[in-house]
Amino acid sequence: MRNRVCHCGHRKGDPEIDEEPEYPTWGWILLSMFGMTPRPDHIVFRCLYCRASLGTSRDPRLLARRSEAKQAA
Ligand SMILES: [Zn+2]
Repeated sequence: MRNRVCHCGHRKGDPEIDEEPEYPTWGWILLSMFGMTPRPDHIVFRCLYCRASLGTSRDPRLLARRSEAKQAA
């Protein structure tokens, strides 16, 4: 499972691989109805070009970084 490469040859850590937050159902409700930023359930590593998923992470540091970034914007 390590060092997986997407269809166009990118891997985790490349700028082409996006860290996409995935929210649980209640998170989407908070987000759409109240404009609140819930903590993501997990992060999906997804290629910006071929949309292939290179796996998921529940690393608390990654999750915290995503919610902080959203709030700062
Ligand atoms: Zn790709």
